[in-house]
Amino acid sequence: MFFLLFGTRPTLTLLVVVRFVCPICGVDAPQHVYQQANKFTLFFLPLFTFSKHHYNQCTNCGGTTDLSPQQVDHALAWSANHANNSTTPYPGR
Ligand SMILES: [Zn+2]
Repeated sequence: MFFLLFGTRPTLTLLVVVRFVCPICGVDAPQHVYQQANKFTLFFLPLFTFSKHHYNQCTNCGGTTDLSPQQVDHALAWSANHANNSTTPYPGR
């Protein structure tokens, strides 16, 4: 007898932390941008991703807001630009 074990597994990845005024609590707090990927598994081994979902979670109130792919790209670009500015100890040199 042969059993085929398959299923799905969600994986959560913290992409970036950005800071803006939360639309839920109104506090300027760090926001965690997450990617939730649902993966198809065969014998408990993840084979491929069949859906992705992005959202941000406020560190102050814990409220979540769904994000579009454009908003995620904007958050990543903002973070990369912000990181470049913060690693330059003496601007202008
Ligand atoms: Zn909040």
